[in-house]
Parts: sequence; structure tokens; C-alpha cells
Amino acid sequence: MIEFHDVEKYYGKFHALKDINLTIDRGEVVTIIGPSGSGKSTLLRTINGLESISQGQLIVNNMDLADKKIDMNRTRRDVGMVFQHFNLYANKTVLDNVTLGPRLVLKQDKAEAEKTARDLLAMVGLADKEKSFPSMLSGGQKQRVAIARSLAMKPKAILFDEPTSALDPEMIGDVLQVMKKIAEQGMTMVVVTHEMGFARQVGNRIIFMADGKILEDSTDVADFFKN
Ligand code: ADP
Ligand code: ADP
Repeated sequence: MIEFHDVEKYYGKFHALKDINLTIDRGEVVTIIGPSGSGKSTLLRTINGLESISQGQLIVNNMDLADKKIDMNRTRRDVGMVFQHFNLYANKTVLDNVTLGPRLVLKQDKAEAEKTARDLLAMVGLADKEKSFPSMLSGGQKQRVAIARSLAMKPKAILFDEPTSALDPEMIGDVLQVMKKIAEQGMTMVVVTHEMGFARQVGNRIIFMADGKILEDSTDVADFFKN
């Protein structure tokens, strides 16, 4: 599903990703941990083309992201992203936030998009909020809308960039529960997080980055947390 081959990333002279070799298969739930500034977010953002790579090869869903002929919109549609700061449309209702992408990009009609959106809002525990605007919601609720919006695009994988880092502690559990549900449904997920409980209980693989490099990559999550 996602393949990095000898990938390097520079921001100007700054070497942000060093010799990244990584293959993520369909259905894996990968958590990425490591000190701040170690390149976690950069790695994530290369996967859906928000950042380009400087060297090497990156294949996502059978497409080489360096190939100028590929449709980057298609890649962004196939690989959803959930951000720390939600990025909801402030002037649209919850329902419209979730239906907009499917209507504009997937060309769904209103009824179909709304049915899917209502099912997803129920799944994330926000069935009663469809007419609310983002400003009326808590951070945890906003993040659950963002997750529903991402799922509505029927992605093949979802990237999460510190999805709970901006939340008050009491909101974090609800968001992690939703992420766990999605993982159990077989979604391919790559999650940058400081939530070690999630990494341990939901993730089936853990990657530790430091200084732009992958220092550890373990599918024995229980063992990883022993030392
Ligand atoms: P930040 O500076 O962004 O807060 P941390 O240095 O706290 O990042 O590291 C993030 C997570 O990675 C922490 O929860 C920590 O437990 C884990 N971690 C840090 N160093 C190691 C290490 N050497 N081996 C395994 N896990 C580590
Ligand atoms: P992490 O997610 O582990 O905190 P990042 O991937 O956000 O790390 O950043 C890795 C390094 O790259 C940091 O030193 C950061 O300052 C630098 N960096 C990130 N984005 C940019 C950018 N757009 N331009 C220049 N440097 C950047």
C-alpha cells in the first residue's frame, strides 16, 4: 500500500528524512513515535503528497508519487489525513463538512452523501450534532467530525498527525475509541502520536524516529514496550 525506497527529504539544506525504507501493507495500524523535530510529521505528509521527497522512490497505492503524470488529487482522495487542528470549514455545518468532499469530488448526489454522512456521524457518536457549526463543538467533537469527513471519502488509508495533541485530556479517550473502531474495521492507518496506550493496544506496529531516521521498526509491540 505504501512503499518508501531510499527516501531522503531536504528542507533547503536541512536534512529532514534520512534513508527511509519502509513498506506498510493494507490493514496495518502503524504508530510513529519519537522526539519532536525528528521528522514524524514530514514522513506522514510525504505519503499524501503534502510534501515532496528529494530523493528515492515513494509508491502509494501503486502510484509512484514522483511520476508527473499521476493525478495527485486522486492520491489525496485515496489517502485521508486527520490533523492536530481539525481543519474543519468554520462556516459550514457538521453535516456539510462531511458531505462536501463526497459531493464535489466523488460526485455523490445530496441524498447519498447525506446518508453516508449520517451513518458516519452516528459511528463517531455525533448523530445529534449535524446542524451544529464547528465553533459550537468541543475539540474532541471537532476531531471526530474530521475523522467522519475523512472516512466519507472512502479512503484506502488514513494518516493521523497528532490527532489528540490539541485536545483537553478528558476528550482524548473519545477520539482514541473512534480510531480504535476504525482500526478494527481493517483501515490502513499511520498515526503520529504521543498516546502510548493507543500504540500499545491498537497499533500492530511501532516505528521510532529520531534525527530524521527510523531507529526502530517493530511488529512486536508488546516487546517494544518491555524495555
Ligand atoms: P517530544 O519531545 O515530542 O515530546 P519525546 O522525546 O517525549 O517526544 O518522545 C515521544 C515518545 O517516544 C515518548 O512517549 C517516549 O516514551 C518515546 N521514546 C522516547 N525515546 C525513546 C526510546 N529511546 N525508545 C523508545 N521510546 C522512546
Ligand atoms: P516531528 O513531526 O517529528 O516533530 P517534523 O517532521 O515536523 O518533526 O520536523 C522535522 C524537522 O524539519 C524539524 O527540525 C522542523 O523544524 C523541520 N521542518 C519541518 N517543516 C519544515 C519546513 N516546511 N521548512 C523547513 N523546515 C521544516
